[in-house]
Amino acid sequence: LVRARDVEKRFGEHTVLSGIDLELQEGQVISLLGPSGSGKSTFLRCINLLEQIDSGEIRYRDEVLGFELRDGVYHPLAEKRKSRQRVHFGMVFQQFNLFPHLTALENVCEGLRVVQRQSRAEAEERGRFLLDRVGLADKAGQYPAMLSGGQQQRVAIARALAPRPAVMLFDEPTSALDPELVGEVLDVMRELADAGMTMLIVTHEMNFAREVSDAVALLDQGRIVEFGAPEQVLTDPQSERAKAFVNAMK
Ligand code: ATP
Ligand code: MG
Repeated sequence: LVRARDVEKRFGEHTVLSGIDLELQEGQVISLLGPSGSGKSTFLRCINLLEQIDSGEIRYRDEVLGFELRDGVYHPLAEKRKSRQRVHFGMVFQQFNLFPHLTALENVCEGLRVVQRQSRAEAEERGRFLLDRVGLADKAGQYPAMLSGGQQQRVAIARALAPRPAVMLFDEPTSALDPELVGEVLDVMRELADAGMTMLIVTHEMNFAREVSDAVALLDQGRIVEFGAPEQVLTDPQSERAKAFVNAMK
């Protein structure tokens, strides 16, 4: 569904991603692990067109992300046309970034109303369905400040799901949470995975990654140093670098 081929991303002189090859098939869950600064967030941001890659390509189905085909030639997408490709992806960040002046339901519906121009009734029906799905049916009218971090993150997940993205991108969705609130967010993600959602997840939750992932990729200094079944990568990594990382996470 999403295929990265030989992706390179630089910030000035600094090469942050290099030779990234990754294929995410429909219904698959892949977890990205790796030390701080290894390029995990940058890779997700490249998929979502928040960053432009310097070489290689990332495709969603037969679309080349960040480009459009005109007269048989690929042209870089203008900023305002990137939203056409971003709709394929729902992204959830470490910081939930909810609108503080909107209720949970309004946060979920905002994009549907503004971007998709749905009627209030239509957007609210979808919003209530999604809040129910993340276990927050009774919190629709609450403002973010009245919700726990775990509840806020579940609202953020519902908001990302609202426009029916084909792929969900998670960037350390539980890293900002108190430990006792991590489980409720992971439970929602696990249900999504079980329901067949295609997901790319950056996480430090090793047990979770092992349970839900079809494959795990280990990044180090902008390269995938290990890729494979979670059991194999997390219990029997091949490279020295991967061994050191996995042992440090235990
Ligand atoms: P963490 O686990 O800490 O979130 P990460 O694996 O997500 O780390 P990235 O945030 O992708 O790592 O950063 C990879 C490298 O790119 C780092 O060295 C970072 O300093 C650099 N970097 C990221 N964004 C920018 C930017 N906008 N400008 C310059 N350098 C950047
Ligand atoms: Mg990051």
